[in-house]
Amino acid sequence: MPEGDAIYRAARALQKAIGGKVVTGFETGLAKLARVNDDTPLVGRVVEKVESRGKWCLIFFSGDLILVTHMLMSGSWHLYRTGERWQMGRGRMRVVIRAGDEKGDWEAVGFNIPVAEFHTARSLERSSEVPKLGPDILSEGFTIEDGVARMAAYGRENPDAEIALVLLNQRVLAGLGNVYKSEVLFAAGVNPFRAMKTIMPREMEMMVDVAQRYMKANVVDGKGDGIVTYSGNRRTTHAMDREERLWVYRRQGRACRRCGTTVMMWKQGVQARSTYWCPSCQP
Ligand SMILES: [Zn+2]
Repeated sequence: MPEGDAIYRAARALQKAIGGKVVTGFETGLAKLARVNDDTPLVGRVVEKVESRGKWCLIFFSGDLILVTHMLMSGSWHLYRTGERWQMGRGRMRVVIRAGDEKGDWEAVGFNIPVAEFHTARSLERSSEVPKLGPDILSEGFTIEDGVARMAAYGRENPDAEIALVLLNQRVLAGLGNVYKSEVLFAAGVNPFRAMKTIMPREMEMMVDVAQRYMKANVVDGKGDGIVTYSGNRRTTHAMDREERLWVYRRQGRACRRCGTTVMMWKQGVQARSTYWCPSCQP
């Protein structure tokens, strides 16, 4: 039975295999989807991103088309290299997306998917079933006050939620990934395992502020891995390891750049995402 974290893992695997690639084939056993594909074909579109929202999986195609699926109890996504034998019968196939680049093709096959529909950004926004994302940290209108208000509201509903998991929750704030999660917590001096009810408004403000600044800087940097949060003496202007640019991320067992204490790592939450922190700077 697919739980939220299974959908999350499926979305991540789909993103890795077909994200950014051009659709070379589309098949479906669902009449509603077939009709949309006839009118506005999927072939030739780019898979812009794949994301999970609760138990929903969303596949975004260029040209404002979003395939939204819900697995209920029975459905699953499989990934195959083109030509590889499927592990389920063709009769259970509901959707096939073929996509590839010069490194090869993938077939993403949705079996037994009971709920599948196409949306545009607009119709998705109006849908009351699919959970909404929180405000995007990088969007034009985003303010620190909005971000803090969202976090505070979530904290009132979920007083025992751990702050690091809340930072990753895209329904609270959209945009923060696993690297920035640890870096933002370090910058704000907040221990990743603290419950929301213990987080002060001042700390929320600092985290949202730092998150926005880090992400904006990264966008300006222009490269996906151009993350720079640490700018100590050792920073040089070229050919740096990503790890050389970060305060704590992937630095477990090494000395904290600020105080020298050994940086720790723990796989946190049901999704077991790695969290890095300094036990002295983030008591
Ligand atoms: Zn430290």
